[in-house]
Amino acid sequence: MSEYITLYRKYRPKNFSEVVGQTTTITILKNSIKLNKIGHAYIFAGPRGTGKTSVAKIFARAVNCLNNNDGDLCGKCGNCKKNIEEEIDIVEIDAASNNGVDEIREIRNNVKLLPSNLKYKIYIVDEVHMLSDSAFNALLKTLEEPPSHVIFILATTEINKIPSTVLSRCQKFNFKKLNNKEIKERIKYICEKEDRLTNIDDSCIELISRLSDGGLRDAINLLDQALSINKEVTIDEIYDLLGLIDDDSQFELIENIISKNIKSVIKIINNLYDSGKNIPAILNQILIKIENIIIYNNTEKYFDEKYEKKLIKFSKVDSDKIIELCKQMFELIYNLKKNTDQKILVEIYFIKMTFIFNENIKIENNSIINDDKNNQEEFTNENKISFEEKKILINNCLCLANKKLKLDFLNNYGLINNYISDKKYNSIANLLLKATPEVVSNKYILFTFKKNFEVILFDKNIEIIVKFLKLLYNNEYEVIGVSSEDWKKIKEDYINNIKNGKKYEFIEINKNNKSSKKNNNIEDKIENIFGDIHITEE
Ligand SMILES: [Zn+2]
Repeated sequence: MSEYITLYRKYRPKNFSEVVGQTTTITILKNSIKLNKIGHAYIFAGPRGTGKTSVAKIFARAVNCLNNNDGDLCGKCGNCKKNIEEEIDIVEIDAASNNGVDEIREIRNNVKLLPSNLKYKIYIVDEVHMLSDSAFNALLKTLEEPPSHVIFILATTEINKIPSTVLSRCQKFNFKKLNNKEIKERIKYICEKEDRLTNIDDSCIELISRLSDGGLRDAINLLDQALSINKEVTIDEIYDLLGLIDDDSQFELIENIISKNIKSVIKIINNLYDSGKNIPAILNQILIKIENIIIYNNTEKYFDEKYEKKLIKFSKVDSDKIIELCKQMFELIYNLKKNTDQKILVEIYFIKMTFIFNENIKIENNSIINDDKNNQEEFTNENKISFEEKKILINNCLCLANKKLKLDFLNNYGLINNYISDKKYNSIANLLLKATPEVVSNKYILFTFKKNFEVILFDKNIEIIVKFLKLLYNNEYEVIGVSSEDWKKIKEDYINNIKNGKKYEFIEINKNNKSSKKNNNIEDKIENIFGDIHITEE
């Protein structure tokens, strides 16, 4: 069985005329060979996969070609026919590997020796920015007085990390990202040569070039993988290979954030995790989509018509809010890099993002619009209860607690299930199904939640919850939401207080003490009962 050669290796350019893009660089390099004005140190800088090492290898061979073929390799002379991998006069050093330093030191010792077979001895140093300070110093010594038979080609993706003393001794060439057209043409060329052009359509080739972000190596490797899966390559397979999702799924998630559809947002995120997707890459995809919405809403005819049709539904969303969404997405991507509990972090951020869109928002005539007069009950963003009020309510709830009423209440709690798809109350029903009614009286109900953000949601939507419970129980309860963790402490204190003979007094709430910020009498009573218990607050 013959060894499989990757498409990237198979189609690596073998002379200047086969190189994709980088035309200015190639022209200058060819001219320097043609005119025999060859430098002794070159630096090739640019993003990954743009051809730096390939061009370095071609240059190394072209300067050694025995025929002057307009600056390119002739392909026929003794030197051109040599196998570059076995040629001792062309030395490749990977500065990212440990022995980079030793190899650079060795160069200093060997550099004076003449080449054994070729005209020039060539040193290609890949990822040169990875060299240690001492290795750079050793390199610098050599670059200060290079023998005429030696050429250095230093390649890097991070030119800012190269000492200026080294830079000043090199001729610099910038390798640019390839454009879509250049990548597409090369991919098509390879498919044609491989006799697979009928198995992959234009939309897939377009997608591969778009996802490779100007790096030809990534594009060819992606093509290689895609062609090896199935006979016919599909768009979905290409997204799958990279752990990404398609444009429509990205827009669906953004739509759900803007419509404050928290349930769907969480469901989508769970699905992404369950199917092993590349979450950081997807967040970057979405960030670009949000940016596109901002551009679309503030310019004219920037994108092609087909893509603008996907953006049109966002045209009426408030620009400031979209920009805020963009900021939060950016923050999430940044925080994700240093956080271990990733899924929770992603969920919390997405819920936070829905809070940006505090007005009632709905999709109408294919566009998402802010609609204040919307009759639908949606989650709101305003906190309806203060910290102090909450303490009073907990106190009162504990005062009036009644076990029998609790049992009656729980007996009918299952009725909420009838509302999980209800247009008006679905969000509230889903939230209450996550709650545990802990304390029930004829006037108050205390619910506990496992997650803090559920308490926050509860507090923001108290009015609607009261309305909903009235519908179910025909009683206008006052409701309190507490996290299970806080409840544990409140309960412990309650039991201790009762044991020690401390009495819980009912505190009358009237409009006056509800709005006044300082009411020492009430605060004292509360402090006596709760001590300094922390109750979840935003
Ligand atoms: Zn030749």
